[in-house]
Amino acid sequence: RKGNVIITGASSGLGLATAKALAETGKWNVILACRNFLKAERAAKSVGIPKENYSIMHLDLSSLESVRQFADSFKRSGKPLDALVCNAAIYLPTAKEPTFTAEGFELSVGTNHLGHFLLSRLLLDDMKKSDYPYKRFIIVGSITGNTNTLAGNVPPKANLGDLRGLAGGLNALNNSAMIDGGEFDGAKAYKDSKVCNMLTMQEFHKRFHEETGITFASLYPGCIATTGLFREHIPLFRLLFPPFQKYITKGYVSEEEAGKRLAQVVSDPSLSKSGVYWSWNTNSASFENQLSEEASDAEKARKLWEISEKLVGLA
Ligand code: NDP
Repeated sequence: RKGNVIITGASSGLGLATAKALAETGKWNVILACRNFLKAERAAKSVGIPKENYSIMHLDLSSLESVRQFADSFKRSGKPLDALVCNAAIYLPTAKEPTFTAEGFELSVGTNHLGHFLLSRLLLDDMKKSDYPYKRFIIVGSITGNTNTLAGNVPPKANLGDLRGLAGGLNALNNSAMIDGGEFDGAKAYKDSKVCNMLTMQEFHKRFHEETGITFASLYPGCIATTGLFREHIPLFRLLFPPFQKYITKGYVSEEEAGKRLAQVVSDPSLSKSGVYWSWNTNSASFENQLSEEASDAEKARKLWEISEKLVGLA
């Protein structure tokens, strides 16, 4: 049978390119989990994803209620779940003030981390039941959260501190819109959320890999300087960022190439190792990359897991 894969945020950029790469193999039913149904439908058509190989389901990660509804509808569809790709993200680098999710969490971490955390916890059982030869759970990470890299050292740097803002509810009260309890900074909130994504992957691996056989992995697909992620940035940045990445840092990768990389992590038999953060070198060969000290801090991963459970109502 075909594998069933859910990809969040598949209405543009990396998610869309990955959906296309997987659907074109004819081996996958791709479920595009998107907040804007019409946009997703248009996007899928415009890049020519074969219509027999995909469907669209509504998911707004900035509402835990929507995440729960999505998980319920998926369960009711009776399909086994063979792969889950947590890809959606928002990035608000120019925001001066925090904005909030339906439940009142700061929007970047609320969407990128807490929404995905609840989604993956709710769908874990569905993946456990799958009889597919390999089962994979992928969370898209980023170099920007890794302070052991050049890109990760561009200020403001990711730093979760002692998680006091998160423990305080990640809301508008008492300086807790940022995980570390510091002053609000939109670019930092995004980087922090990516550190959460990478820590969450490792905690899943630790808790569930042996018992379930599921492969848990994260990746940095390269700098896809052309995606909608930078839509909130100032115009000059959007003009200069792609050539800068192409010719100066040489980290630039096209949406199509990045989509192939993520599709590889979902379906290539040779990338089955669990607990790994994948990256690619300039010849597009994959390798197991090192995470920064914070993004591989086991104690922080455990603490993040426990606080997140409380915030999303699982504990
Ligand atoms: P895009 O902005 O093109 O795609 C982000 C996707 O997330 C869109 O489909 C968007 O939906 C969706 N999304 C945003 N908010 C929500 C929400 N509340 N509920 C559901 N979906 C939502 O960016 P990219 O393709 O670049 O980003 C994809 C992933 O790649 C992210 O995890 C990002 O961190 C990561 N990444 C990107 C890099 C880059 O250089 N671009 C580098 C490293 C990692 P909509 O279409 O409706 O806006």
